[in-house]
Amino acid sequence: MSFKEFLYLDNTSSTKIDKEILKTYTYLTNRYFANASSLHTLGVEVKNLEIKAKNQVLDLLKVKNYRLIFTSGATEANNIAIKSIAIKNQHLGKHLITSKVEHDSVYNSFKFLADYLGFEVTYLNLNQDGTINLDELKNSLRPDTILVSIIGVNNEIGTIINHQKWCKLVKENSKALCHVDMVQALGKIDLDFLNVDLASFSAHKINGINGSGFLLIRDHLKIAPLISGGSQQDGFRGGTSNSPANIVLAKTVRLALEKQEENNAHLKILSDFLYKELKAISTISLNSIQNNSVYNIINFSVNNVQSEIILNALNNKNIYISAGSTCQDDLYEDSRVLKALNKSEKEQRSRIRIGLDASLTIKDLQYFIETLKEIINDYAI
Ligand code: PMP
Repeated sequence: MSFKEFLYLDNTSSTKIDKEILKTYTYLTNRYFANASSLHTLGVEVKNLEIKAKNQVLDLLKVKNYRLIFTSGATEANNIAIKSIAIKNQHLGKHLITSKVEHDSVYNSFKFLADYLGFEVTYLNLNQDGTINLDELKNSLRPDTILVSIIGVNNEIGTIINHQKWCKLVKENSKALCHVDMVQALGKIDLDFLNVDLASFSAHKINGINGSGFLLIRDHLKIAPLISGGSQQDGFRGGTSNSPANIVLAKTVRLALEKQEENNAHLKILSDFLYKELKAISTISLNSIQNNSVYNIINFSVNNVQSEIILNALNNKNIYISAGSTCQDDLYEDSRVLKALNKSEKEQRSRIRIGLDASLTIKDLQYFIETLKEIINDYAI
């Protein structure tokens, strides 16, 4: 079988830029290169386009009562959300809650606050179905809890954690603010912002530009700016803005939402096919939970071959895929997520994550499965 150059199954790490988005971005880069803070006509035009893009995104997500801060991606958005809120509100308490299965940008932001600024952090466990234990969360809330942050869709195994349930519980039982990392949720599941105070997003997971993202903050909330600089973005994030990337975000979000239903219908077909094929391979155990996950992320372990061997062998056949979170790319390091699901060390070190995109076909995946079977046959110990 042949395919175009290579088969890309790492769409959870980054996606190919949509042609329309790239066209607009190229146009914007050429035409609107001026500094959005400059007072001449071109600078003002750039600034106005950024403001328009902000309002469009707020409209699209139906969150008119939020402020939007453009960032260099979700890592920065998560850092701002967590550190800026914790620092600003520390006089109200120094207890924070998150989960054991957060993306590194969240997990390490909490670790930073604990290590350097004297905050106390509670890390919640995971139920076997990949959800948060609400009783454990309720019991962890204290009068000095100021922030709870829990991922919306897990980037390693794709499980959906219903933030409506836990945010409601937090609001009913404490004064804490709620932050949701919605990076892997946008364009995959319907979003609802009731009781959500802060939410982080990234463009390159939805066929947008790398190094671009945004943070939503409920209007009345004050934060301590993490990036000290000029008065850009209302003083919340100094620095010359990446205007073309920021402006094209409006189109990126619009397309992701417009295509969500159609993409999901196709992704379900791809996902059903993969689950069926993977379940039929005796040495494979599934780490994703099929009935509680987005369709585009499927994580499994090949129990008699290490991840590194499989990834290299697939790479040699021009199939590009990752083991899990690409931010945690040491294959000999245990996976926090799989550990939380009580997976053995062996399973953790033989983990593979398929990241699908709606442009893939069943034929592509048939080729992947055939190649995977050959590799397992060749390398099984
Ligand atoms: N959160 C989640 C859930 C992610 O999957 C990622 C990307 N791997 C990030 C945060 C960080 O996003 P970015 O690459 O835009 O910094």
